[in-house]
Amino acid sequence: MQVPLLDLKAQYASLRAEMEPIVRDVLDSQYFINGPAVGELEADLAAYCGTDHAVGVSSGTDALVASLMSLGIYRSPLDEGPADEVITTPYTFFATAGSIWRVGARPVFVDIEPDTFNIDTTKIEAAITERTKAIIPVHLYGQLADMEPILALAKKYNLAVIEDGAQAIGAKQNGKPAGSFGDTGCFSFFPSKNLGGLGDGGIVTTNNAELAETLRECRNHGMNPKYYHKWVGANFRLDTLQAAGLKLKLPQLDSWHEGRRANAAFYDAAFANVDEITTPIVKPGNEMIYNQYIIRIPNRDEAIACLRENNIGCDIYYPVPMHQQECFAALGYKTGDMPNSEQAAAETLALPIYAELTDDQQQYVVDTLKTFLVANK
Ligand SMILES: *Cc1c(COP(=O)(O)O)cnc(C)c1O
Repeated sequence: MQVPLLDLKAQYASLRAEMEPIVRDVLDSQYFINGPAVGELEADLAAYCGTDHAVGVSSGTDALVASLMSLGIYRSPLDEGPADEVITTPYTFFATAGSIWRVGARPVFVDIEPDTFNIDTTKIEAAITERTKAIIPVHLYGQLADMEPILALAKKYNLAVIEDGAQAIGAKQNGKPAGSFGDTGCFSFFPSKNLGGLGDGGIVTTNNAELAETLRECRNHGMNPKYYHKWVGANFRLDTLQAAGLKLKLPQLDSWHEGRRANAAFYDAAFANVDEITTPIVKPGNEMIYNQYIIRIPNRDEAIACLRENNIGCDIYYPVPMHQQECFAALGYKTGDMPNSEQAAAETLALPIYAELTDDQQQYVVDTLKTFLVANK
């Protein structure tokens, strides 16, 4: 049996008949930039995320960069003095920290909770200085970080909150969707996310009308009106083709989340009496969308080798926390500074969780891991 970590073709098989004419329509229109589908997707996505506005951008990374720039966290070549600081988690995809660096701000890392892998909100206040301008919580694997304490700190210290919801579109906390808590919410349509595009794409959500306007300028070189620039933006536009494809997929997103949740429940039950394996913990009030299903297992690297030998896809998200990345060495962090992140990087692995997985495939994954554990006792 073969069980890939993600099988995009399985989803596409159910979409092909509708997707092909939609792509053809965009080709026939030759309206590739800012075509009508972009505004339509923005309206649909804002409604889905429970926000007043959504601004399509070129990727999840650019959603983060555009948010920072539009909130004024953006160093110009003429700025003097120390850089702004932005607090985030070291246990995330690189884009979160890379975006902070690229606008000329300094990433300040706060370790994670070991159970949810999200930023430990009890440790944020100690990291705030007079230069802190924003907090970027990451809703890792599809579960929201604890937003209440983050919003309270942001209010107390007058900080912006940018939600990195790249892995959490449609996830909720106490009934409220990701992307509706912060000043902005950033989402990615990278094909491996729960809502994947036909290539790169992203979107920024916000309830702030003025900020939405600034974001629209930002994604178009800060231009308003045409060929007049009051500030320096970039080309962060979302292609019409992407918007058209995503608009077709969005109405099915909740059913794909449901499929992932059912698959998570299957693994949860199958591993419930396996002491060696720790399955994902979902906090009360959180509705998780399982962009990844992450377990802790002893002899993790041997477990990965065993799964791969048996044609089961798996991966490590993420093997090197941000504070240990070479490019951030000058920030001065050292091994041991973020123990929970370092331990997660050493002990966790992702199992296949996509919606179209069959029970037989999941049972095969479970049996293979159980056999591995017996052999490695
Ligand atoms: C995927 C991802 C991003 C970046 O999204 P892209 O669309 O690939 O640029 C940012 N943050 C997190 C947590 C991600 O998982």
